[in-house]
Amino acid sequence: MEYGKHLNTKKLLVFLSIFVILFVIIFASALLTSKAKNSKQKKAESNNKGQSEVVSKNETQEENVVSNEVATNTSENENNQVENDTTSKNETKPENENTQKPSGSSSSSTSGKKLPVSNPDSIQLCKQAQSGDEKNIYLTFDDGPSPNITPQVLKVLKQYDVPATFFVLGSRVELYPELVKQEYNEGHYIANHGYSHKYSSIYSSEQAVIDEYNTTETAIQNALGIPEYHSYLFRFPGGSSGGTYHNLKQSAKSKLESMGIASTNWNCLTGDAEAVGRTKDQLLSRLYETAEGWTSLVVLMHDANDKQATVDALPEIIEHYKNEGYTFKNYYDIFQ
Ligand SMILES: [Zn+2]
Repeated sequence: MEYGKHLNTKKLLVFLSIFVILFVIIFASALLTSKAKNSKQKKAESNNKGQSEVVSKNETQEENVVSNEVATNTSENENNQVENDTTSKNETKPENENTQKPSGSSSSSTSGKKLPVSNPDSIQLCKQAQSGDEKNIYLTFDDGPSPNITPQVLKVLKQYDVPATFFVLGSRVELYPELVKQEYNEGHYIANHGYSHKYSSIYSSEQAVIDEYNTTETAIQNALGIPEYHSYLFRFPGGSSGGTYHNLKQSAKSKLESMGIASTNWNCLTGDAEAVGRTKDQLLSRLYETAEGWTSLVVLMHDANDKQATVDALPEIIEHYKNEGYTFKNYYDIFQ
């Protein structure tokens, strides 16, 4: 019986030890599994962390890209705008040039669009035309138009392609409006020399000077068919100073200037109105003599009926000053 008891105890011990070993194995394996789970979780977390970092990096990169795109778009837009502006300017320019070119160069009716523009510096600039140190020459013709001389003068000017200024008389503009229109259409400046050229009339009062100026302006406007034409330029018959009417001329000159109207004399002349029957050579030598000492020239000539010698001298005058390197101007160069 004792042996039987001992055997049972032995069996029980073996059984318990197996149980303990199994328990330890199960516990150990459970422990290992949980450890493995933890490490996996940690790995996963760390991976997630890394991923999120990468994602956030990508987001930043995308933001940068977006901002770059925005910046690029902005600059492109600006460039486009500049391009558009330039394009529109370029498009406008040739159109203007195209619309202006035919009017300036083609038929007589369209070239009439050129109008003198009131210039606050005109009084000073008119003085400079006489006293300046540049080789400019203003050919001026007074007392016209006349049916036999004016067309010949225009023909010579056209032949040499030089501009001139015509100080017309209102009374003669009314007689020969088509000649004034021709002068204007061929690019010459139409200025004002009063209406009557009778000293006793025009210099009877300051207001008479203004009235003759205004009447002549109206005659020019009617001749040209341009109501908005204003010459802004007057030449006193006999000059703006000296003689019996000196004081009246001076006060009329100030009055005209207060109205924005300049006046001009000349600094050299051919003497074609100084005596009757002067020859071409006499006119040339008188001009060269009076022009001496001046660099910028305002030449007084006349296109009245008896001035054939002026027409005859004109080609040589133009050739002489062209050879001297002069620039031919008219008062559009001032009233613009
Ligand atoms: Zn005159």
